[in-house]
Amino acid sequence: MNELSNVKGIGKITEQKLNKLNIFSIEDLINYYPFRYDVLKKTSLNNEKVVVVGSIESNITVNYFKNINRLKFKLLTEDKLINVEIYNRMFLKPNLYPSKEITVIGKYDKNKNLLTASDIKLFTISDKTIILPVYHLVKGINNKSINNYINKALLLNKEIDYIPKKINDKYTFMSKKEALFNIHNPSNEKKLKQAIIRCKYEELFIFMLKINELINRNKKLLGCKKNINIDKINEFISILPFELTIDQKKCLNDILDDLKSDKRMNRLVQGDVGSGKTIVAIISMYAVYLDGYQSTLMAPTEILATQHYENINNLLKKYNVNIKLLTSSTKKKEREIILKELQEGKINILIGTHSLLNDEIKFNNLGLIITDEQHRFGVNQRSNLRNKGNLPDVLYLSATPIPRTYALTIYKDMDLSIINTKPIGRKDVITKVINNKDIKYVLEMINKELKQNHQIYIVSPLIESEDNDEEIDAKKLQKKFSLAFKNYNVGLLHGKMKPKEKDEIMNKFINNEINILVSTTVIEVGVDVKNATTIVIFNAYRFGLSTLHQLRGRVGRNSLDSYCYLITDRESERLKIMEKTTDGFKLSEEDFKLRGSGDLFGTKQSGDMKFKIANITKDYIILLKAKKDSEEILKEIKKYKNLKKILDENINQD
Ligand code: ADP
Ligand code: MG
Repeated sequence: MNELSNVKGIGKITEQKLNKLNIFSIEDLINYYPFRYDVLKKTSLNNEKVVVVGSIESNITVNYFKNINRLKFKLLTEDKLINVEIYNRMFLKPNLYPSKEITVIGKYDKNKNLLTASDIKLFTISDKTIILPVYHLVKGINNKSINNYINKALLLNKEIDYIPKKINDKYTFMSKKEALFNIHNPSNEKKLKQAIIRCKYEELFIFMLKINELINRNKKLLGCKKNINIDKINEFISILPFELTIDQKKCLNDILDDLKSDKRMNRLVQGDVGSGKTIVAIISMYAVYLDGYQSTLMAPTEILATQHYENINNLLKKYNVNIKLLTSSTKKKEREIILKELQEGKINILIGTHSLLNDEIKFNNLGLIITDEQHRFGVNQRSNLRNKGNLPDVLYLSATPIPRTYALTIYKDMDLSIINTKPIGRKDVITKVINNKDIKYVLEMINKELKQNHQIYIVSPLIESEDNDEEIDAKKLQKKFSLAFKNYNVGLLHGKMKPKEKDEIMNKFINNEINILVSTTVIEVGVDVKNATTIVIFNAYRFGLSTLHQLRGRVGRNSLDSYCYLITDRESERLKIMEKTTDGFKLSEEDFKLRGSGDLFGTKQSGDMKFKIANITKDYIILLKAKKDSEEILKEIKKYKNLKKILDENINQD
């Protein structure tokens, strides 16, 4: 009964469109929140920003310039006849005709008697202030239609109020029904605010409830005590090409202590990019291998998994450790063999992507699970992982430094080890914010590096920009760089390529057959090519500082001088922070201050770490309240069927 087709007016085609907005059920639909509100109040034409109502008094004329179109018409407002123009709104044209009454928002030029509109509403507003919800949309669905569907869905009474009555009483929240109604149909600002807080609270409350449940379960969980052969481990460490840093040693000791104890390990290793988390993971897997257990390492991308595989194979081959790589591009036959050998215990270490979470994968005696770049995992996955095999220890590696206060809350179910010190000899990456018009300087610098046989990353936020010719994208950049650097190989890498193509390109880059790699942010995490000394990031303003820091971490991976150029024509003040610091923790704190947690928990976040309305940093006070309340409710969870259901569905039983 939660199907979208039950909502009046939603047919197959509309359903498909809604799917594009990640709306798959009635529940999704009513929880599809506006991303902002337009507050409209009629003004006079003298205002800086004008909002006027009037009726159209002429035909609509259309002009085209290159990629731009313009609609123009006359409008009779309450006090005079004016000209109105609006750019790139061809889709409005069928709804604009003589005598149609509309509301126009924009800037009015008295001398030209011309209103350049930024928006046109196809209805009139009264003298009262009105608040209009604005949603993220897809083609074929506008603000009005989605609002309409949502209101129809609200009539079906599908919303479940998850906040227990006693908490509702404490805060005198409005009911969920009323809150949702107000969010989608705000009547005044005060009520809207209360409604938003109510919904944010609920989201954070459920989130903290899950975390607290995980903590409870962890307490009870006994793992498998492992015997640690410290001599062999030290021997392995002594033949590494480098000395471990103090923090790496500390972190390794934490892990070995966990492995030795009969408590199940559940540890998060936070370390800045390039701080050397992988080797700690490898040593841990070796330690577990020495005691006869299997282990597995999972990475967020295939590129990274492959790289880990090669790295680990190199280091452990001579010890006869049987290591296999399993990803979605592993051939069916090979996959079957791997699965079989895994179950028979012939494979000691399995490297792969998240597809390893798949249930058909059975280990023989899994002792340790490691996930790289943990920040991409939600709570559900956290509990999923822990259920593979017979109570394996779990280690999470994360390069996204989250300010400690937040980490302690949202990762409260884990123990924390931090790697702060960088390996000796690392130089800071020299970072410069460059205006688009000064690109020539960057090209010269690239040329210098190429002459020394060093390699270059070029990053663009877009694979292919759609209708806008102005915006530079990865495909265009590859063409441009190929032309500019004729004697060098310029490769292209993006997320829409087949895994096999990606591997090929990446391997060529690793082997220095590709000199310049143009890429989207698929190279953001983990990739380690020591010979790459320069990264150029186009439209850098589009990224949060933490993401830029991650990208910058692709260079400066040995003792060569390395450079990061941030190309932008706006927001250079914010980006300049990158020139001053290479400390990931500091940058993430700046990010938190400037943009909220968007970058960390926003679009890239999977599953339940992606909040629909709440924002961990901006709503931190609500989060703390939710944390406390959820602890209390958890004690008597049996009383709350809906909440219990969420926990049972989301957190696996051990
Ligand atoms: P990250 O923490 O970002 O995952 P990696 O584990 O990829 O970083 O390590 C970055 C690079 O530093 C790798 O090439 C690795 O071999 C090297 N490295 C790791 N630890 C040390 C160390 N103690 N001294 C010198 N180089 C190291
Ligand atoms: Mg890494």
